[in-house]
Amino acid sequence: MTVLAIDLGGTRIKMGVIENGAVIRQRQSDARSGERLADRAPEIEASLKDLLNSANRSVSNCAGVGVSSTGLVDRERNRVLSTNKKYEDAPDFDFNQWADRAFGLGCKVENDAHAALLGEWRYGAGRGANNLVMLTLGTGIGSSVVLNGKALRGKNGQAGLLGGHIVVDPWGDRCTCPGVGCAEAQASTWALPGRIARHPKFHLSRLKEYSNPDFKTLFQLANEGDEAAVEIADYCVRVWGAVAVSMIHLFAPEKIILGGGVMKGAAAVLPPIQKMVKEHAWISWEGVDITIADHLESASLLGMAALFESDVEFI
Ligand SMILES: [Zn+2]
Repeated sequence: MTVLAIDLGGTRIKMGVIENGAVIRQRQSDARSGERLADRAPEIEASLKDLLNSANRSVSNCAGVGVSSTGLVDRERNRVLSTNKKYEDAPDFDFNQWADRAFGLGCKVENDAHAALLGEWRYGAGRGANNLVMLTLGTGIGSSVVLNGKALRGKNGQAGLLGGHIVVDPWGDRCTCPGVGCAEAQASTWALPGRIARHPKFHLSRLKEYSNPDFKTLFQLANEGDEAAVEIADYCVRVWGAVAVSMIHLFAPEKIILGGGVMKGAAAVLPPIQKMVKEHAWISWEGVDITIADHLESASLLGMAALFESDVEFI
């Protein structure tokens, strides 16, 4: 079975042709998420048709179009409800109508963190697990949960989704959600430049040479011994570790999968989070396996295909 998949992320739009749980073609472009989605749709359509052609497939081979999106999503109606300051016209965008007009296909829309977990659960690091948490560390912080073999959704699909908005500092920074001091506001890619600029050792740091520093730069400078970089990296990793521990306390998973762009620097992230979980989590079983996603670049795309290909159960 072949599925056309789109991931509307905060930093990039990814597009792929997925077949039997594998990406056979993939392309990405800058999100330019401040622009209207309606203005980007023709480019997305052209790219997907191009990818299909290059894979020697046609729309008649395809089961549908899967769209994973940042923000809150109504999976029943295939609508984006709220995007947290990205693709602001997305709630008005009719994905069903667009997929039908562009490809003559049906459409499914899901939140990107939920989609990423589905991709890893069915085709990656979460295979075979019945109780699973995924954290996606990137532009924002997303989470999703599998509970007793069912994908957790709860009311409006929000259950398990907002792990990035667990408050880690009630006196912390204003988030893009209504909250203050959420993990995402303290330690995500969008929050990083502000955290760096306010660090007391900023002016002694090579970080000031970068106009929009990301975690790759931060980890690299931390590795070279830059003091501000070391302290900020340590702070962020502790925030993520705190979220991991809280998710363990809430959902009792056997495994936590860490995904998202930040995990390209896994050497700086994985060991300290594993250590923190081992020391801080209060559990009654042998331990929680903390592991990296198998599909850092394509978990959400694979997850959208999983929605067409398998009999995923939801609670
Ligand atoms: Zn928040």
